[in-house]
Parts: sequence; structure tokens; C-alpha cells
Amino acid sequence: MAVLVRQQRRVPYANSVLNKMSAEEIKEYQETLLQKQLRRAVRNSSYYRQIFKELCIRPEEIQTLEDFKQLPFFMNKEMERESQRRSLEEQGHPFGEHLLCKPDEIAFTGTTSGTSGTPTFTYTYTAEDVQTMNKYITNMLEYGGIYKGDRLLFSHSLGIYATSSILFGVREHGVLPIDVDVRAGSQMIMKYAQMTKPSGAMMTPSLAEHLIDRAPDLIGQGVGSLHLKALFTVGEIGIGIPEIKSKIETAYNCRVYDYLGELGFSCDSDTYHGIHCVAPDLALFTEDLVDPETKKPIEVKNGVVGEVTMTELRINGLPRIKYATGDMVQVFTDPCPGCGFTGHRVKVVGRSDDLLIIKGVNVYPSAIKNVLSKFQSELTGEFRIVLESPPPRVIPPLMLKIESAAGVTPSDLPYIEEKIKQALHQELRVTPSIEWCSPGMLGKQLTKTPLFERKYE
Ligand SMILES: [Zn+2]
Repeated sequence: MAVLVRQQRRVPYANSVLNKMSAEEIKEYQETLLQKQLRRAVRNSSYYRQIFKELCIRPEEIQTLEDFKQLPFFMNKEMERESQRRSLEEQGHPFGEHLLCKPDEIAFTGTTSGTSGTPTFTYTYTAEDVQTMNKYITNMLEYGGIYKGDRLLFSHSLGIYATSSILFGVREHGVLPIDVDVRAGSQMIMKYAQMTKPSGAMMTPSLAEHLIDRAPDLIGQGVGSLHLKALFTVGEIGIGIPEIKSKIETAYNCRVYDYLGELGFSCDSDTYHGIHCVAPDLALFTEDLVDPETKKPIEVKNGVVGEVTMTELRINGLPRIKYATGDMVQVFTDPCPGCGFTGHRVKVVGRSDDLLIIKGVNVYPSAIKNVLSKFQSELTGEFRIVLESPPPRVIPPLMLKIESAAGVTPSDLPYIEEKIKQALHQELRVTPSIEWCSPGMLGKQLTKTPLFERKYE
């Protein structure tokens, strides 16, 4: 048998037209799509008509990416919820006043998992949109060596959540998804994996790591016995950390790729070189960065860090347009040292706010506060999240310092602790470790109360 020599295979753009274009030509192509999308937005939605009216400009006046970058963002999570609230009230559907298609043309809707509050239907597509996006997924699977006739273990939160949209592309590629909801637990996931012998798998890096630890108990051997050809991870910084990439690749004995939905994926290299942005025609992503504090545009150059403002160029249903995502990325414009890809690459830095990731579950401090605030007679309301290392990844259990209310005796605490753990698990899927503090010990501050106790600082 020939020795397998790893080729440094260049990541291709999903839209093959782009592979023959220069950077300048790609930019012009983006500008054409942008102008079309803006005109469509204003024509089809009262939300965008109002924005352009307030800005006192017409979409035709936005000719270049530079013009567009000068505009303030059009939407963020809160504005999206408000738009949804109004459309539910006035138009009888929950997708928002910024919907660009008719509600009965929607073929898929997906929300984000793990966060609290009113869900946002951010990932809402027409049948044509689904077709458009499928080819970005098939491009990635093919690059990873997953072909028609293969089976793919797909273990995420299934159902209404955004990740479910990936399944369309998997099926389009002729690959059979073995879609086991992550909430079924690691035993069930491993059982299906062992029975169906998938060639590849898609999951969070946290789950991939968790299965490394659990496999010997669950199936009597390591995850390497699954003989995967490729593992695709999403949703966390994960394999951007060299130790994690190396740990996962060694244990599974295959390449692990990091991807960001349809926007891009990392290349076949031992060293991680970031997500390769293979979809500049699908969305403005790295092109429209802002300073997270001032929201002023940042010049995109090699190594720069900024908050992503997203504009989907080819989505007809509910495209994000000048959407302040809160995602912080570092952009690389130099050719990839691993594969020679000449487009942009990004490394995800985290959230501009205070996201924590515990075993693949996204948790915001405000969500924890919400749960704790239900224990008004037992707690003072003061608490701290203790971080041993820089967020967002938290090595479980999440450590909380919580003040008990005056009048609560030490013998009451085990019962209260149990109730809090149950509530946090039920609402946020997190089971914390709790350290009790007497009333006043954490120090109430009348201005902004710190949420974190950062032990690593
Ligand atoms: Zn590369």
C-alpha cells in the first residue's frame, strides 16, 4: 500500500466562478450583489424603507463597499426581536418586519440554541435559499473527503435550531445523515456511531472532546475505532486552540475541520490557519468590521480584530443586512501558509459581550441572573461567575459564588442549592458548583456590578 502523502490542497471557493477571479473582481461582484439586495430590501420591507428614509439616502446611492461601510448598522438582536414583535402584532407572522419574502414562501426557519429570551428566527430561508446554500456545504464535505454514499454522524441540537439547515446540504451531497440529537446523550450517540459506521461526523468540539473521554466506557474502545475520515466542528473556538486540535485529531485519527455554517471552513493542515472565507458572494462578513465600542468601521488588513457586521447577499427570505452580530474575529488577508488560499481567513475571538460556553452550551451571565432572580426570598441577588481561565470556554462545572439572603440558616442551604441547580439545568442546561457567601460579602455596588471574578488575571 502506498504511503499516504498529505497534499496541501487549496481550499476552493464554493462558487467556482470565484476561483478564477482576482480580489478586485470578487469585490466588484460583491458590490453588484449588494446593490441588488439593498434595492430588494427597500422594495419588499417597510423596515428597510424606514431605515433608508431616516438616513436620507436611496439604495442606488450605495455604489461601493466603502460607501456601505460608512452606514450605521441596521439591526442587532434586540432590534430583531422588536421587529418580530411588531410583525406578529401587525402582520400575523413572527419573522419580523424585515422579512423580504412572503411568509408562505418560507421553506426553513431556524433559531439559535442555548440562549435565553425570545427566540429570533434569524435563519429563515426560501426553498431557493436552501438550494443556494447547499452547495457551500457540499463543497466543504467534498474537501474533507466525504462523498456520495457516505454516512455522516450529525450530533447537534436538532429541530428548530439553525444547525438543522446544514442537513439539507448533507443530503444534497448524497450523504446519509445519522442525525442523533445531542440531547440524547453520549451513550446513544456512540451506539449509533458504532452501528452505522459513518465516514465523517459533525458536532461541537466540546462534544468531540467529551466522547474521547467517554468512548472507552461506552463502547469498550477509543473513538479512533470509529475510523472517521473527517470531523467537522462548529460553534466554539475549539480547534483554534492548538492543544484541542491536536488532542481531537490524535484520538480520532483523522483531520478535524472547523467551519462557520456556509461561510467557510479551515484547511487540511496540521496547523490551524483559521476559517477560509469561501463564500464572499454569499455574505459580507469579514469585509464590514467595526470597533465593538464605537461601532465605527475598521479598515480590513492582515491581523486586524473587529466585530462582524453581516450582510447576506444572496438570501431572499430573511437576509441579515448590516446586522451587528456581536461576534469578534481576527481577519487574515495574506495567502494561507497551509494551502495557499488567497481569500480572507478568520479566527473567531469570541463575543463582544460576555458569552460563556460550558460543554458546548452557550450561556450568558444575564441568563444566569434571570434564573437566580427567581429565588428572591432565599438570595440577595448578588452573585459572581468565577472564571479560572479566559472566557468563553469554561471547564465544567461552572463556578458560582452566591449570597444567601438574611435569615437563611446553614441547614437550609443544601435544599436551596439543589433547587437552584435544578432550575439552571432546566433553563440553561448547566449544572454549576456553588460556593455560598453570607449576605453583603460580595459587596453590592450601586453602579455596574461586576459579573465575573476572574482568577486568571
Ligand atoms: Zn489554508
